[in-house]
Amino acid sequence: MNASPTLFNRLALIGVGLIGSSIARAARAQHAARSIVATARSPQTRRRVAELGLADQVVETNAAAVEGADLVIVCVPVGACGEVAREIGPHLAAGAIVSDVGSVKASVVRDMAPHLPPHAHFVPAHPVAGTEYSGPDAGFAELFVNRWCILTPPEGADAGAVDRLAAFWRLLGANVEVMSADHHDMVLAITSHLPHLIAYTIVGTADELQTVTRSEVLKFSAGGFRDFTRIAASDPTMWRDIFLANKDAVLEMLGRFNEDVSVLTKAIRKGDGEALFAHFTRTRAIRKGIVDIGQDSPAPDFGRPHPGLPASPLPKPYAAED
Ligand code: NAP
Repeated sequence: MNASPTLFNRLALIGVGLIGSSIARAARAQHAARSIVATARSPQTRRRVAELGLADQVVETNAAAVEGADLVIVCVPVGACGEVAREIGPHLAAGAIVSDVGSVKASVVRDMAPHLPPHAHFVPAHPVAGTEYSGPDAGFAELFVNRWCILTPPEGADAGAVDRLAAFWRLLGANVEVMSADHHDMVLAITSHLPHLIAYTIVGTADELQTVTRSEVLKFSAGGFRDFTRIAASDPTMWRDIFLANKDAVLEMLGRFNEDVSVLTKAIRKGDGEALFAHFTRTRAIRKGIVDIGQDSPAPDFGRPHPGLPASPLPKPYAAED
């Protein structure tokens, strides 16, 4: 028997990839909406969404999807959000909450807001959860559990709408934080966008090396490279859009990063072991902090299971500092 409240009557999902399909699965599991209607750009994806039974109804157009919906979540690459808003604007029901899941917020607000009617409530959001996989098969209901969902309501946004959207994300297992779109973009530039840029760079650099063969790079990847390759396998469309949309904040963080690389370069060149040791001690503490607040597993090798190897008991993490 379902004890959780049904928050919305009709949830419309526009775009059913990793994030859209995870929302569909989680909303179903938690009975967050009485019915779910979904649409995607291509007939192939729409067919797959229907085969997977992710929605009660799969429709062909964005406009048809939002008819009668009291919650609309746009789950497409950030570069496509403005066009979707233009299509759905005239079809939104009075009082409907319109949200998104884009990884950049200021550009999404700039692109979507002008197309939305005053009788709808616009509350942008970003669930900080994901994997390197895409498409409707990649999603799973637990994706948002114990992850943060950041809401960036524009000034003057309807407080009731913000509360209802926050309740929706909490029902899906997320923790909710509210901040401005600009602040969000600065925070995510350092915690997500720059790390992706570094991963894309390093994997590209390794691929272009003349002195180390590609097969050696792959063979010895467990030395650290492998962890970058997971991030660098992320969807090219999504990440192209993110870097174009969050240009200023990413360039700001990249500038600082380059300065810090220069400091470490100098320490290595001068043989300054003390500086290197102090730096690595500081960064290790950051890793410990992430594990301590439950945002990653303390298991060795980022908790990866190793098929074929006997399960080993967890070592006490960071024993030297305890
Ligand atoms: P995805 O798996 O690639 O799915 C994208 C969906 O958007 C697909 O259904 C696709 O339809 C549709 N779409 C693509 N281009 C479109 C366009 N121009 N117009 C209309 N629909 C379009 O992507 P995702 O990983 O779910 O990401 C979706 C959004 O979530 C992005 O804004 C991203 O920034 C954000 N986000 C992603 C992650 C992550 O880790 N992946 C985490 C948090 C937030 P077709 O399949 O028919 O092409």
